[in-house]
Amino acid sequence: MSKRHKKRLTKVLIASLLFVVSFFFDGYVSVAVLCASYLVVGYDVLWGAVRKIFSGQIFDEEFLMSLATVGALLLQEYPEAAMVMILYQTGELFQGIAVGKSRKSIKELMKIKPDFATVLRDGREERVSPEEVKTGEIILVLPGEKVPLDGIIEEGKTSFDSSSLTGESLPIEAVEGEKAISGMINLESPVKIRVSGVFEESTVAKILRLVETSSAHKSQSEKFITKFSRKYTPCVFIAALLTAVVPPILLGQPFMMWVRRALVFLVVSCPCALVISVPLTFFGGIGAASKKGILIKGSNYLEALSKVEKVAFDKTGTITEGGFSVVKILPHNISEEELMETAALAESFSNHPIAVSIVKAYGNNLEKNRVQNVTNLPGNGIRAQIDGKIVLAGNKTLMSSNGVRIIDEQEIETVVYIAINGIYAGFIALTDKIKPEAKNSVKQLKSLGVKRSIMLTGDNSAVAEKIAENVCVDETYSSLLPQDKVSLALKIKGEGKGKIAFVGDGINDAPVLSCVDVGIAMGALGSDAAIEAADVVIMNDSLSAVAESIRISKKTMRIVRQNIWLSLLIKFGVMILSVLGFDNMYAAIFADVGVMIIAVLNAMRMLSAEHNKKE
Ligand code: ADP
Ligand code: MG
Repeated sequence: MSKRHKKRLTKVLIASLLFVVSFFFDGYVSVAVLCASYLVVGYDVLWGAVRKIFSGQIFDEEFLMSLATVGALLLQEYPEAAMVMILYQTGELFQGIAVGKSRKSIKELMKIKPDFATVLRDGREERVSPEEVKTGEIILVLPGEKVPLDGIIEEGKTSFDSSSLTGESLPIEAVEGEKAISGMINLESPVKIRVSGVFEESTVAKILRLVETSSAHKSQSEKFITKFSRKYTPCVFIAALLTAVVPPILLGQPFMMWVRRALVFLVVSCPCALVISVPLTFFGGIGAASKKGILIKGSNYLEALSKVEKVAFDKTGTITEGGFSVVKILPHNISEEELMETAALAESFSNHPIAVSIVKAYGNNLEKNRVQNVTNLPGNGIRAQIDGKIVLAGNKTLMSSNGVRIIDEQEIETVVYIAINGIYAGFIALTDKIKPEAKNSVKQLKSLGVKRSIMLTGDNSAVAEKIAENVCVDETYSSLLPQDKVSLALKIKGEGKGKIAFVGDGINDAPVLSCVDVGIAMGALGSDAAIEAADVVIMNDSLSAVAESIRISKKTMRIVRQNIWLSLLIKFGVMILSVLGFDNMYAAIFADVGVMIIAVLNAMRMLSAEHNKKE
């Protein structure tokens, strides 16, 4: 418990004690003890209300509570006044603890922030803050330490714990030449890492920025609550005023009776249950998702996710693993070795999964300085000048649009055709593995109310159909250029009700990610563009996280709706009762604090249930 909470608890306890003590006396002594109790627990509320009046924003809960209790005091209902304050502060205390608890889960994420980096400068080890390390410098990371910046392993071999980033508990093996990502924890042995970018650009810094800004993206429900309470409180105030004044004048009934009812009305009307529980639930939902390596950039996206009825997937790297293996090389008037070398030289300038796989399959050293004038042709392939010759590597469209006649056409696998100086030189056929969880994930989406699952790909239709059949998506569109994916996604977005989510790898899908209702980037661990372009970022590569995030969003929204209805119904019910003459101040404050506590407990369900569940 924090210091502030302890202080509040002490006040509540002292005030309660005084409250009890007051019953052993009567007359002025009793009144004095009750007033003391009231002041001990309520002076900061009163003071807050006074301060707010002077700053022009009168209508808030402190104001309502102060008005109601001061009114009670004037009516000489001292025990009621003290009790209202005690219960109000108990409620506040409870709320504070709940908010603190959910903050903690976000803070746990903040723990990924590295405190220092050990840089090797002039053969010496220097301990500096991660912000001071420059690109290209070598850092040393010992077992048990956090990797402070992104980089490539220069020396050593170890395994990393990436669970704070991905929610994945399996350690990742890494050897020389492989990526080390900031925020991971070194588990085994010391490694030297060549830093590939400054701290500002590191994965950790990006995630932290994302978490910090996520509260700025408010959901519709939260905006509704804010607007609602801004209008609601003055309305309640006026209604209470009318209750106090109108019936006595019109009906000639005793003034005191109606003032009393008006005060009770004020106590019940406090909107705190709503104001606190709705954001708290969203907070819990975002926290629960982050535990599983799913980063949601704001509660508006969490809300949108719950309404998703169409999910479009990119193929390469999303439904498939994106690590192609070469299944066939068919050179034409050129040696196989030469064909592979040419392709690998050109592809070494692209980060497309196909390109990376070809370079890896070739395996030999590449003399990159033989290559000039490289142009990436998104969705088609790549063009480069190698030893002065124009080399094209890419799909059928690329060949035909450059007037290259393909001799041995094959479209059963993903095929990269190669042309040198406009003459066909052969092809490399590659195949990719479907992610093991793909089929099940698509099925799970169906059971979560997703009506259409769609695959969009730039690959040829034969490959697309084969994969679509395997993972059971409803619709498949193939041979798409990146801009075709955008227009298609927009078209689907416009069809029927429900929101559309697009799941892509973020490498070449950024435009689609940003044009749909919810852009979900897969495998963001290590991919730069994804964290920025997407609304939801899945840190591990797992497709099942898509269904998981929708499931979390639905649960969040269910709790939000429950809380809104519960609070409004009970509030309005008791408000009407109070006007009708059920003017027990104790009952009123119990209703108010009770609803708040139920709503907050309900909101906390989001956090705790998801926390304890381990798959
Ligand atoms: P996907 O929709 O499967 O992610 P892309 O839009 O990235 O596919 O690419 C579509 C097609 O363009 C690929 O299937 C491939 O035929 C071709 N292509 C794209 N980039 C390259 C490249 N660097 N080298 C060879 N072919 C490429
Ligand atoms: Mg792709």
